[in-house]
Amino acid sequence: MKKPKALILFSGGLDSRLAVKLMQDQDIEIETIFFKLPFGGGCCNNFECVLNYAQMQGVKLNVIDCTKSPYFEKYLDVITNPKFGTGTSINPCKDCKIFMFKISKEFMKKIKADFIVTGEVIGQRPMSQLKRYLALTEKESGLEGLILRPLSAKLLPETIPEKQGLVDRNKLLAIEGRHRKAQITLAKKYNIKYPLPTGGCLLCEKSYAPKLKDLLNKNNGIKHEDIQLLSLGRHFRKSGKIIIGKNESQNNQLIELNKILNHNILIKKDSPGPTIIFENIKDKDLANKMQEVFSTNNLESRKQFDKYKINQGFAFCP
Ligand code: SF4
Repeated sequence: MKKPKALILFSGGLDSRLAVKLMQDQDIEIETIFFKLPFGGGCCNNFECVLNYAQMQGVKLNVIDCTKSPYFEKYLDVITNPKFGTGTSINPCKDCKIFMFKISKEFMKKIKADFIVTGEVIGQRPMSQLKRYLALTEKESGLEGLILRPLSAKLLPETIPEKQGLVDRNKLLAIEGRHRKAQITLAKKYNIKYPLPTGGCLLCEKSYAPKLKDLLNKNNGIKHEDIQLLSLGRHFRKSGKIIIGKNESQNNQLIELNKILNHNILIKKDSPGPTIIFENIKDKDLANKMQEVFSTNNLESRKQFDKYKINQGFAFCP
């Protein structure tokens, strides 16, 4: 008889690692799907670590790379026009989940899986893991009854695979809330190594939102490298964006990214000093002045430059 087959949304974090184990315990055939998101996400942004775990468990890992076309543009559209609002920053968690579920639904059909599994735990994240939001994301992605959350399943309505006897509900769990005691106990039982939860998604960081909004509002045809620039250097805007490297490592990263972005660039060759990327050639003199000022630790020249900035009316993008 054919084994039931599940597609597991795999973030790399402990919860989705446990979801893999719980399905293997029920002798269910598994494939996993990992979303590489432009702003990070899930618990583990280290792809090697995700891949290692999948290989150790002998499960196939399918990667949806949302840092590249066509998913990148679709994901930016989710950020720009979220139907269900955002969390405390610019994070559109419900729309983001729906986006991932819709792609997973197509993938589930392609690999002939019977249902989808996630490591979601009720009440763990306020924005998207409350019971009513789990139901909403399921309905909006056209997957009603087809998403099994084995860690919290006993607290949720019976799913189609449970009703069909593909999964034994008695072996599923009833975990809820933000504390992780139950998961850590299970990790010991299964001897699972796992990454510590990190901030993960830049969209949740309040300090990141103004920079991203500035980019989304003022630039067209945004590339993933534009997003990567947001995490580097000091950002200013005059006729266009001006970005100044803060140290040697950032200078080198700016040079590499600019090979793709092809903006104007100033590189200090004969003495230490920042690399500067500037989008608009009208800002060339300003960029030269900035490079001169930021090449020294002279506080007086920085102060003069601060006055100059204000007189010139150009803004610091936080
Ligand atoms: S935190 Fe929210 S927006 Fe970020 S990856 Fe997770 S669900 Fe998506």
